[in-house]
Amino acid sequence: MLIDSFGRQITYLRISLTTNCNLKCVYCMPPDGIPVAQSEELLSNDEIVSIVRSAAGEGLRRVRLTGGEPLLRKGLVSLVCELAAIQGIEEITMTTNAILLERMASSLAKAGLKRVNVSLDTLDAEKFRRITRGGCLDRVYKGITTAERAGLQPIKINTVVVRGMNDGELRDFANLSVDHSWNIRFIELMPFGNSKDWGAGFPPADQRYYSVQEMHKDLAAFNLQPADTPPGNGPARTFRIPGALGTVGFISPVGEHFCESCDRLRLTADGSLRPCLLNDNEVPVREILREGESVIPALHKSLACKPQAHALIEGNLPNLRRMVQIGG
Ligand code: SAM
Ligand code: SF4
Repeated sequence: MLIDSFGRQITYLRISLTTNCNLKCVYCMPPDGIPVAQSEELLSNDEIVSIVRSAAGEGLRRVRLTGGEPLLRKGLVSLVCELAAIQGIEEITMTTNAILLERMASSLAKAGLKRVNVSLDTLDAEKFRRITRGGCLDRVYKGITTAERAGLQPIKINTVVVRGMNDGELRDFANLSVDHSWNIRFIELMPFGNSKDWGAGFPPADQRYYSVQEMHKDLAAFNLQPADTPPGNGPARTFRIPGALGTVGFISPVGEHFCESCDRLRLTADGSLRPCLLNDNEVPVREILREGESVIPALHKSLACKPQAHALIEGNLPNLRRMVQIGG
């Protein structure tokens, strides 16, 4: 069993498949991007499968593929197929910007992918282009509708809320849950090396954080009712507009952290186990694998250095990697 020093059972692994991305969201990626990793620095598909197989033997049950942009990963469909076939793994899901989803949704669903979370921060095409530094909103919509038709449901929409960027759109996003069985999830901005200037039209660093309490106030008129948390909704606190098909959730890693129920581990694209998103402790596994040794001791070592809780309030910020290098 994968149990950490504080008695939390780890059943969920988030795997970053690449540090590459076809967007450059202002809060995630520096304007010039990040250096492209050499292919030998990245875990191969076989190495990823081998780690998941070992972890499944220790009680891992769910896997999420992320990035960078996971749809850019070569051999993705066959990787999903192999992961889905591992004994003990109950579901494979993905977090994506959906730019390439229209093209890939159907083959991914056939390979065994269960659901997708789509990251979308605005419903305005011009603002989307500015936030993502060049992205096309229409492709995201097409990706979402194609994924729905392919059965990758329920669709979750992840919206990072930033003051002065998209805090005026919360009601429009929440309204999407009325007629669509989508789970809209509002996420607080996390301090990941994004303190620099984002360019014209974006607020300065010290004004960007928008708390879940402020989000709740904005949505007060909707009379949100507590709802059961949909499958895989993890740390979101979930609500429903009365009569709506979908739900509205809030993820508050900064203001109301949920560390006591944390059930996850992360694997970076270059092969390090990262037990906490917001803490820089990591255990490298790539070389262990390449030397033909078992990764099970490293899995347990990573749990031994999983902190009880993050320490953002005390001012301990992660600074080893950008969010695009971990995968959220
Ligand atoms: N490219 C994929 C995508 O955008 O969905 C997967 C990787 S992305 C790093 C994973 C998630 O992290 C996205 O939902 C994104 O909005 C979120 N994210 C990135 N930087 C963030 C930050 N500083 N604070 C909060 N969420 C962030
Ligand atoms: Fe790329 Fe996702 Fe980061 Fe946007 S949030 S830059 S889509 S990795």
